[in-house]
Amino acid sequence: MIYVDNAATTKTSEAAIKAMLPYMSEIYGNPSSLHEMGQVAAEALFSARKTVANALGAKPNEIYFTSGGSESDNQAIISCAELGEKKGKKHIISSAIEHHAVLHTLDKLSKRGFKITLLPANADGIVKPSDLEKSITDDTALVTVMYANNEIGTVQPIAELGAICKKHKIPFHTDAVQAVGHLPINVVNDNIDMLSLSAHKFGGPKGVGALYVRNGVALSPFINGGAQERGKRAGTENLPAIVGMATALTESISTMDKTSKKLIKLRNELIQGLLAIPHSVLNGDAKNRLPGNVNICFEGIEGEGLLLLLSDAGICASSGSACTSGSLDPSHVLLAIGRPHEIAHGSLRLTLAADNTESDVKYIIKSTADVVAKLRAMSPVWKDLQEGKRNYVIQ
Ligand SMILES: *Cc1c(COP(=O)(O)O)cnc(C)c1O
Repeated sequence: MIYVDNAATTKTSEAAIKAMLPYMSEIYGNPSSLHEMGQVAAEALFSARKTVANALGAKPNEIYFTSGGSESDNQAIISCAELGEKKGKKHIISSAIEHHAVLHTLDKLSKRGFKITLLPANADGIVKPSDLEKSITDDTALVTVMYANNEIGTVQPIAELGAICKKHKIPFHTDAVQAVGHLPINVVNDNIDMLSLSAHKFGGPKGVGALYVRNGVALSPFINGGAQERGKRAGTENLPAIVGMATALTESISTMDKTSKKLIKLRNELIQGLLAIPHSVLNGDAKNRLPGNVNICFEGIEGEGLLLLLSDAGICASSGSACTSGSLDPSHVLLAIGRPHEIAHGSLRLTLAADNTESDVKYIIKSTADVVAKLRAMSPVWKDLQEGKRNYVIQ
């Protein structure tokens, strides 16, 4: 089986699993306990916090462990919104291409009377800093723009967006779930006040993540109970998972240069090979792009059919759209970059990891070309296009 769905989740690294095991067997103490076993656990917790902080250029007391990217996004946004509301500020700026963890949180706030501005992305999927500058008002309580997009892999000009927020003294949050462990990040240089990350997107276990909150940015408690996470997020810490996350993060950062070089090469070969299929187009920016992300639309086919036939060929891919979750709506990201509905339906997302090989790439290109040809041969839309009864959207 060839797994090229690493934006959905990654394999937990051997090193992470090995690091986690003792915290499920010998060292099972509660980090809040005063006895020896508790204190050993507390030390491991602090060491993991330091590792995560160092990886971002942050301080240990700026890291809050959470259950993952979705929780970090929800809590950062809701906390900022509520604190803004107290000052009479009820405007939030985000982008049209955010993950649903952000967009659905904003929907909820919009029902509570917040005004939400979604910045557009250009045809390459990039959010323009000048659009942000124009959208800021005296009522703006928060700006949240993702670091890198999970569907089309575009990397945003985060430092520039952050600098604008800094100038206007508005808290800036970024969903960096796709970026952490894959791109060099420094919260100080990037002007980031709050950042969400998730372990299972960089070789850590599922169900654990972190929220970075810069000292000086207020944060309201998001889980009530004990004093864990400096009183902001109660609940006994998931220490094995936290240790696994820190180990995976150290590992992915130490191999980042080598891995991204390899992935960029494989990615570009994959893009080139797939664009040789007639009437196909690349989604997202060719350069400002995650090293392992490929996203292509093929005219005249449905993404679901493509995924099922690729799965039969032993390839685990994604359409990157909501289709996979049972909804028939095409991807909001592809619509936001201007793909018409019928084109957005024919998308394929392939997200590579370090264990993918040249031969995987060759096999994927060959299989996709075969499957696309097969689906087109059965498609009434394709027949109309071929007979000139309809015009091609993708040349
Ligand atoms: C995966 C992902 C999330 C959600 O993270 P979980 O840990 O699965 O909750 C949020 N944002 C982006 C961009 C993602 O890729």
